[in-house]
Amino acid sequence: MVSHRANARQLAVLLSQPYECETDGCNAREHLQIDHIVEYGRSKRTCATQLGYKCAHCHYLKTHKHWRDGPKHPNGKRKLIPPNHPPPTAPGPGP
Ligand SMILES: [Zn+2]
Repeated sequence: MVSHRANARQLAVLLSQPYECETDGCNAREHLQIDHIVEYGRSKRTCATQLGYKCAHCHYLKTHKHWRDGPKHPNGKRKLIPPNHPPPTAPGPGP
């Protein structure tokens, strides 16, 4: 059964990550929210790598201002791409 809620295992993976906004250049550590990196309607499922922390500001930009997640960097950060901006070169097929 598919659920919109993150399960315990997914949350455990998430909690093992640094508690910091994952947006590159943003080091917010307060008022973080759990973000589904691939939006639910498109992915049809939730997996651990698709959860990340975002601060309220970055989450707002993504949810209401049409900003998009870029590919995740080795340091765990990802760029937040403004609307009307050409997509970054893809690192390969998605998960
Ligand atoms: Zn942020």
